[in-house]
Amino acid sequence: MILVMRLRETLYSSILFQDISFFDREAVGDLTSRLGADCQKLSHVIGNDVHLILRNALQGTGALINLMTLSWPLALSALVICFILSMIFLFYGQYQKRAAKLFQEYTAGANEVAQETLSLMRTVRIYGTERKELGRYKQWLDKLAFVNIRESVAYGLWNMSFNTLYRSTQVIALLLGGMSILSGHVSPEQLTKYVLYCEWLIYATWRVTDNLSSLLQSVGASEKVFQLIDLLPSDQFLSKGVKLQKVMGHIQFVNVTFHYPSRLTVPILEHVNFSVKANEVVAIVGISGSGKSTLVNLLLRLYEPSSGQIYIDGFPLRELDIRWLREKVGFVGQEPHLFHMDIKSNIRYGCSRHIEQKDIEWAAKQAYANEFISSLPDGYETVVDDNLLSGGQKQRIAIARAILRDPAILILDEATSALDSESEHYVKGVIRAMGNDVKAKRTVIVIAHRLSTIKAADRIIVLDSGRVVEMGDNTELLLKDGLYAHLFKIQTDALA
Ligand code: ATP
Repeated sequence: MILVMRLRETLYSSILFQDISFFDREAVGDLTSRLGADCQKLSHVIGNDVHLILRNALQGTGALINLMTLSWPLALSALVICFILSMIFLFYGQYQKRAAKLFQEYTAGANEVAQETLSLMRTVRIYGTERKELGRYKQWLDKLAFVNIRESVAYGLWNMSFNTLYRSTQVIALLLGGMSILSGHVSPEQLTKYVLYCEWLIYATWRVTDNLSSLLQSVGASEKVFQLIDLLPSDQFLSKGVKLQKVMGHIQFVNVTFHYPSRLTVPILEHVNFSVKANEVVAIVGISGSGKSTLVNLLLRLYEPSSGQIYIDGFPLRELDIRWLREKVGFVGQEPHLFHMDIKSNIRYGCSRHIEQKDIEWAAKQAYANEFISSLPDGYETVVDDNLLSGGQKQRIAIARAILRDPAILILDEATSALDSESEHYVKGVIRAMGNDVKAKRTVIVIAHRLSTIKAADRIIVLDSGRVVEMGDNTELLLKDGLYAHLFKIQTDALA
């Protein structure tokens, strides 16, 4: 139990410290299946197989020594039977190992489908695809059943070959032994001993091979577990990096080009150059898919640029201690997700300094979240998760979380998209105040599709297909009559 606990812990920590690109490749259901079913399978090895193999190996060796002291030829004949058994096992064992690997793979596949469907249950219900999803799950179950049946047939054949071999040995031993007793070559006592020791030896060989097959099954199942454990943690956790005395919030992108590791042929950002002064409020604008969130991902160092460099206060981002830097950055994403814990803990999440209840309430008030939180049955103690709050309420909690951190750099990626106009107006006011407050100056980067949200920004950067095409304040860009003016016109026309 202790070993399995440690195995799970090691596997979980190995997964947690991987690069974000790892999570782009691996499916969540597959990983949870490795943590659950595969580790459980390994517990069987440790709990049963190893000690049974050892015990039977010892028993078999004892029986063999006794057989040898009894008679060399008799011992040899028993050994031949054991040898044949081992040969059959060689094929069977290999087969079992492959089957076990398939079994775990299919279990992970079934898990992945179930996890996806259950977490997207609302979409499934609205589109009425329950039967289709059931069919998708059943496909995996059918594959699992097929592997299971083949495995059972192979086990049956293996058992049959053992029994045939063993029983025929007994019959032959009795026949030949009986004749030898009659002719006076062997005593009845010797024959009885032979039959007993032979039984011990063959049974021990069978049990060893049988448990070995179960062990091989577990080895097959655990291959992926050990592959995951062997992965090196992300570079970000290996190298220490520099900690600055204070983050001023001066950001520079110098000739940054980037493509996602999962799509190497599709460039997302190309030769991006811009800088954001400390305490400036900068907005990033562009049509959907132009690479705005990707810029933020690079700034948060979730991915490394393919070429070019990002600087914070003049230091290359990759040379800074990223965990320390992330503490100085507040981020509110497009679809904030909440943890299944109380609201208080959700607001306090990831904040390393000492936080009191009044700080949490202050942050919630700033984010216009205090009112709805207080109306919940247990107030700040109410346990929530993603499904229990509206989109706007989740965004307000995420904004409160960012405000509480008192960050030097605040990044808002469509952070107010789910808010009603009135709340958005107030929250925007707070964010602007956060930027202008002399005591707590900070750099603010805002991404918003609603251009009214970012009109007042000090500077607006316009992105088009991963390139910076325009830069300036609202008035300058409108005068320029470029992409920004075009987007602005479309939105004002739509409103009119
Ligand atoms: P939106 O306004 O809709 O949020 P955006 O401008 O923020 O869009 P990004 O999210 O930066 O756009 O996406 C830019 C491109 O990168 C898109 O074509 C998207 O498909 C691709 N992309 C985003 N995330 C990944 C990822 N993890 N792996 C591969 N490609 C990705």
